[in-house]
Amino acid sequence: MRKKIVAGNWKMNTVKEQGVELAKAVAAKAGEAPANVGLIIAPPFTHLCCVAKAVEGTKIAVAAQNCADHTSGAYTGEVSAAMIKAVGCSWTILGHSERRQYYGETDEKLVEKTKLALAEGLGVILCVGENLEQREAGEHFAVCESQIKNVLFNFSADDMARIIVAYEPVWAIGTGKTATAEQAEEIHAHIRKTLAGKFGAKVAEDTTILYGGSCKPSNAAELFAQKDIDGGLIGGAALKADDFIAIAKAFEA
Ligand code: PEP
Repeated sequence: MRKKIVAGNWKMNTVKEQGVELAKAVAAKAGEAPANVGLIIAPPFTHLCCVAKAVEGTKIAVAAQNCADHTSGAYTGEVSAAMIKAVGCSWTILGHSERRQYYGETDEKLVEKTKLALAEGLGVILCVGENLEQREAGEHFAVCESQIKNVLFNFSADDMARIIVAYEPVWAIGTGKTATAEQAEEIHAHIRKTLAGKFGAKVAEDTTILYGGSCKPSNAAELFAQKDIDGGLIGGAALKADDFIAIAKAFEA
């Protein structure tokens, strides 16, 4: 059975003290989330270690927002999967549209990053999604399918047990425009079908596929009620413990 997950991508927000405070606030409320909903928080690199310590022993797992495409060496400014693992993370987000758009993250690089993250025992939340121009041109199914194929088709069915897909239409990220539940569901179903074509129906059924893009307490229940939507990758609303937990509680609505 696939897992239900609500993951918070804090992006470049909070300094260390604020991050630890937010993590503790989320931990204090985590018991209000349904027991079968996993919670993941992804703070900036600088406070992964402190945040991991702050939530130790709770149901909250910690993720990085990115990891390097090399193991070690002369890559100034980069942070490796081993470093992320060593400070208490169990996940990394990869391929967020902001990284694809502003930092030249390509599918080829994401293959390397995913390999290294999995080799270190990290789970991967791989983001895919079309931009506004691609949606308006009717290319959204093809764009998501090719991102899935280019990255995940390089991995095995066993690897898929540690990979979550996040569908994040770029036009809905941080814009207040949410994809309708129907728009999101049809892409999620298409992603699952694409995975089934390569890895078989069982692996596809067991893969958690999250929706991300202006998801908030007021729209989470409708999105999460869709058959192929297994939770959310949350940006802005993850910066408020109450909202983040309210989104997780939307599974009960
Ligand atoms: C994100 O960046 O992953 C995201 C979904 O952001 P927001 O919820 O703010 O749209």
